[in-house]
Amino acid sequence: MKIGVPKEIKPQEARVGLTPAGVRELVNRGHAVEVESGAGVGAGLLDEEYVRAGAAIVESAEAVFETAELIVKVKEPQPSEYGLIRRGQILYTYLHLAPDPKLTRALQDSGCTAIAYETVTDHQGGLPLLAPMSEVAGRLSVQAGAVSLERIHGGSGTLLGGVPGVASASTVIIGGGVVGRNAMQMALGLSARVTVLDRSLPRLREIDALYGGHVQTLYSNIENLETSIRDADLVIGAVLIPGASAPRLVSRRMIESMRPGSAVVDVAIDQGGCFETSRATTHAEPRFRVDGVVHYCVTNIPGAVPRTSTHALTNATLPHLLRIADLGFKAAMQADSNLANGLNIHDGEITHPEVARSMGADH
Ligand code: NAD
Repeated sequence: MKIGVPKEIKPQEARVGLTPAGVRELVNRGHAVEVESGAGVGAGLLDEEYVRAGAAIVESAEAVFETAELIVKVKEPQPSEYGLIRRGQILYTYLHLAPDPKLTRALQDSGCTAIAYETVTDHQGGLPLLAPMSEVAGRLSVQAGAVSLERIHGGSGTLLGGVPGVASASTVIIGGGVVGRNAMQMALGLSARVTVLDRSLPRLREIDALYGGHVQTLYSNIENLETSIRDADLVIGAVLIPGASAPRLVSRRMIESMRPGSAVVDVAIDQGGCFETSRATTHAEPRFRVDGVVHYCVTNIPGAVPRTSTHALTNATLPHLLRIADLGFKAAMQADSNLANGLNIHDGEITHPEVARSMGADH
């Protein structure tokens, strides 16, 4: 199969759909890969590396879209790309169609086959192509929180891990899912004191079994939230209710109760945020203060580390890509129901029930 990798053009997006290592796997199985010149440069991946892996470099996005049977990307196509997508072409990328009727309509009109990373499932009911970005965001959230506690950023001047003879920072993580567990691992690695709150008892049992006395687990209710947040130096919001906006678990009153110079990192901000005082920020200006508490609310945290994020994404997307390339899209879908759940649009029709439901009002 002929696979094309265009450069991402969404503002502030430096990731790329495929690493040179991914190209090598495809080429090794007899597939051809064309990469737009400079596509990987934001992630530190140079054209020469793609060429060494067996790809051909082409000069424009138009050239990539013109001949590729499958386009592998990171973000949803931007309006200037709509017209480039061809009938019968397979598009493999994050799409988030439910809130985007314009893009949905454009993809229907194009006649392409669109597979969305975010709806591919695994046998445990998880979303394996979303998980790598949650891993990155969870790990980075602790770095962001540690920096927020520095005096120069308006923080209390507290070192997360303390030093011998001086107390370490109390870190509270709300939500013990992928983001929360990765945050927990980093916070423990830096010798912080860690408390995790979740609504899921099985999840809290799992964490307790893994980390024993090193992590305090608490059931997530108002009482426990109030008391743990009041005493925290750093609070990380990492909750998710699938398909819904994040619950506003932390009220302004709870924020007011924190010591001045404490910090919160609202990872769930991409779903609206779980702190009443949150508002979305960017990497250019990530922090603001409310009631003396430093807030970090960046909506695309993995964008800070496009190199790691690109490798993590390719690790997760490549197995399905290989299968589609080897078998063709129809046989690949028949062979794997989890991949089939990724199909959002085919031949002008919306094929994913959630997307169809969201579009109901518009069609
Ligand atoms: P996940 O499903 O793995 O985990 C979410 C956890 O929240 C679950 O354990 C669930 O039981 C728990 N939860 C639900 N309601 C709760 C409540 N009331 N109190 C405490 N816990 C509760 O999800 P995830 O992959 O860890 O993602 C977490 C959030 O991070 C999501 O909102 C996701 O969109 C967001 N995210 C943001 C970025 C970013 O760049 N800002 C990047 C990746 C993920």
